Amino acid sequence: VVEITGLKKSFGSLEVLKGVDLQVKRGEVVCVIGPSGSGKSTLLRCVNVLEEPTGGKVVVDGVELTDPDVDIDKARRTIGMVFQSFNLFAHLNVLNNLTVAQRKVLGRDSAEAEKVARANLEKVGLAGREHSMPNQLSGGQQQRVAIARALSMDPDVMLFDEPTSALDPELVGDVLGVMRQLADEGMTMIVVTHEMQFAREVADKVLFMDGGYIVEEGPAEQVIGAPQHERTQSFLARVL
Ligand code: ATP
Ligand code: MG
Repeated sequence: VVEITGLKKSFGSLEVLKGVDLQVKRGEVVCVIGPSGSGKSTLLRCVNVLEEPTGGKVVVDGVELTDPDVDIDKARRTIGMVFQSFNLFAHLNVLNNLTVAQRKVLGRDSAEAEKVARANLEKVGLAGREHSMPNQLSGGQQQRVAIARALSMDPDVMLFDEPTSALDPELVGDVLGVMRQLADEGMTMIVVTHEMQFAREVADKVLFMDGGYIVEEGPAEQVIGAPQHERTQSFLARVL
């Protein structure tokens, strides 16, 4: 579903991604771990071209997003993204948060959009909260709304950037539970996370990034359980 080759990204003279190759197959869950500043968020943001890569190729569902002639807005519709900060529309209730893009971007009529929205709210355990405003919800609930909103666009791949790191510890489990359920249902996912337990249990593949490179990648039991590289080992020693 996602094919990244030789991806580079610089901000001015700072080279943040120095040549990243990554393949994510349909239904695969890839967890990305690594120290602050290693380029994890930049990698995700290049996958849906929120950042324009300075080099390399990003192909999603066979569409080369790095091709200047491609309609990025259209291609991006197949990619759902969930951020650390939930980014809900503060002035819209939950239902409208989930329906607005369906109507405006996908052209669904209100009835259809609401049906999809309700199904996804139920999936994330928030049926009945349609008329709540975002500020009436806990952080964990808001993040689940953000996930339901992304799902309502029928994405082929979901990108998560530290979706639980802004949450109080007791709210983390519900969000990870929803993500785990999505993974079980076969969603293709790239997840930047510090939740090593989640990565161990859910990821098909774990990438350790440092200094703009993928230093080590493989199954969780290998990368987290028995890391080969000194940098991976010292990172894990700090976070585990
Ligand atoms: P964290 O774990 O703290 O979220 P990260 O691995 O996600 O870190 P990035 O956010 O990808 O790291 O940032 C990598 C580097 O790129 C950092 O040095 C950061 O300061 C820099 N950077 C990121 N975005 C920009 C930007 N828009 N302009 C300039 N520099 C940026
Ligand atoms: Mg980040």
